[in-house]
Amino acid sequence: MIPDASMFNSPSAYGDALRIFLSQEPLATPYIGYHTPSLEASTKHLSGLQSLLFDSGWSRLGWPEKAGGFGGDPRFRAAMFQTLWDLDIQIPEPYTTLEILVPVLLVYSPHLAETLLPGLLRGDDIWSQAFSEPDAGSDLASLRTRLEPDGDGYRLYGQKVWSTLGHLSNRSVLLARSGGPGHKGLTMVLVDVDQEGAEVRPITAQDGENHFSEIFLDGAFVPADRVIGQLGQGWEVAMYMLQWERGAWGWLQQGRFHKRLEQALQSASSNPRHSADIGAAYALMSALRLQTRHTVECLAREESLGPEVSVDKLLLIDAELAAWDAIRYHLGERFEVDPSLDWLRHDFMFSRAAPIYGGSQEIQRTLVAQRVLGMPRG
Ligand SMILES: Cc1cc2nc3c(=O)[nH]c(=O)nc-3n(C[C@H](O)[C@H](O)[C@H](O)COP(=O)(O)OP(=O)(O)OC[C@H]3O[C@@H](n4cnc5c(N)ncnc54)[C@H](O)[C@@H]3O)c2cc1C
Repeated sequence: MIPDASMFNSPSAYGDALRIFLSQEPLATPYIGYHTPSLEASTKHLSGLQSLLFDSGWSRLGWPEKAGGFGGDPRFRAAMFQTLWDLDIQIPEPYTTLEILVPVLLVYSPHLAETLLPGLLRGDDIWSQAFSEPDAGSDLASLRTRLEPDGDGYRLYGQKVWSTLGHLSNRSVLLARSGGPGHKGLTMVLVDVDQEGAEVRPITAQDGENHFSEIFLDGAFVPADRVIGQLGQGWEVAMYMLQWERGAWGWLQQGRFHKRLEQALQSASSNPRHSADIGAAYALMSALRLQTRHTVECLAREESLGPEVSVDKLLLIDAELAAWDAIRYHLGERFEVDPSLDWLRHDFMFSRAAPIYGGSQEIQRTLVAQRVLGMPRG
């Protein structure tokens, strides 16, 4: 049976049907309870899950038919992620980037979404995001990578950094300067990073894993039809992207926090000393769940969210830090020494990056104060 959106009267009915499919499908067994800290190993292993979900049709719900999907709105994707977490199936990392990037293409460059979404969803292609530069992170509008006209397209010159999944990707959504200073001179493009003129070097983080990459650009070619939106529209495109990066992504993550805390509570006896930490973490995770559910519903109605998605990101930071602190305290010595929990220790270490990735905590607080609450600058 190949499912389509008309078969389900709600996204949660779809989630229930997917749960039955995955529980009964022998091909899904290798993914249930699979954990590894290695991004390379998990991306390779879980590409099999991506193929299974695409070929059986389940991951095509929630995407428009003209882009190879089976219809339905983003709530179907949210239900798929929740179902995967409920079954202790790790979300393939490429899903998290496509969840941020493809909605942007659907609005600003539908011709790219229509041709490229199926390969991405199936796991045949992997994309990364290349915005940050060595001297442009929070102050992204100061970035210096240049996009210069050349024949039927453009060439890129410059350096990007912190690109998650960069060394495993064949393409990158990249923000570059096509005009003068400031945000009006920026353009978003989709560039093949497996070509001459682009060199990708993995960066090993403190936990020993290659979470990110540097990308060196020395004349990499971008065909004219790979400009996302218009020349000079890059900042607007990036701002639209943020509502997916900070909102929809938060929903995807909250399922992970809930599952991991639940597993920790089941796997060790309770120490009353840590009850307050666990209670506080659960309250923060619940707040994140409610806020991001609201955001996904707004996105499904195609509402434009604006700076209030920074609230989602701030709740994500607090929930992620608190969840992993609570798990660590609850598991006690086992958390520190049990060799079978290596993957969980890596998750803990990654959680410490929550106040930085996707826009730092300080910047989000300022955005909420100034742009949501209307407080004066300075
Ligand atoms: C796990 C992880 C994954 C990432 N993945 C990607 C990716 O895929 N693609 C990508 O392009 N980038 C990625 N990044 C980079 C991320 O977007 C940047 O690290 C982030 O935007 C902060 O920029 P920065 O590191 O240059 O720090 P800076 O901007 O130099 O900031 C340093 C510190 O100063 C503070 N600060 C800076 N300006 C202000 C201000 N005006 N007011 C108050 N405080 C301020 C910041 O809050 C921060 O604490 C990732 C980062 C992490 C940690």
